[in-house]
Amino acid sequence: MRDIAYKCLNEKCNAIFHGIDLEGICCPLCGDCVVPVGEFEDYFIKDIPSYKSLKKTQLSGNQMVSEKSIEEFRESGMLWLINNLLHIFGWAVVVETDGDKVVRMYPARVKFRGFSEKSNTDGYISVSRYMNDNAEELLKEANE
Ligand SMILES: [Zn+2]
Repeated sequence: MRDIAYKCLNEKCNAIFHGIDLEGICCPLCGDCVVPVGEFEDYFIKDIPSYKSLKKTQLSGNQMVSEKSIEEFRESGMLWLINNLLHIFGWAVVVETDGDKVVRMYPARVKFRGFSEKSNTDGYISVSRYMNDNAEELLKEANE
């Protein structure tokens, strides 16, 4: 399977993204037609978000709220980010897992502060990746 870069044909949208085996797909942001614009190797990975990352973060039309999974909340780095703030006050949002599956999430009073160096490195990477993948959409929403 090849990873291919696509471009949205809607001039107001102009989304560029990549994905594997995306035959018959529409733009994950506006739903318009897309055309392949090259093999993914032609682009730097940091410059193009994936189809999946655009699709899952997008709020469609007038939709104001879109429920997300706790797994996605964690993967985006948002849980780590909010817990960094909560630790100042001795609180945290705790996620209990069974393997990769989240079984429970609850607020808690905690005695520890901050995270390990590895957790912080992973957290900064996750949040930076999220910002890189969503900056355009976030700016658009902020200006609406
Ligand atoms: Zn589009």
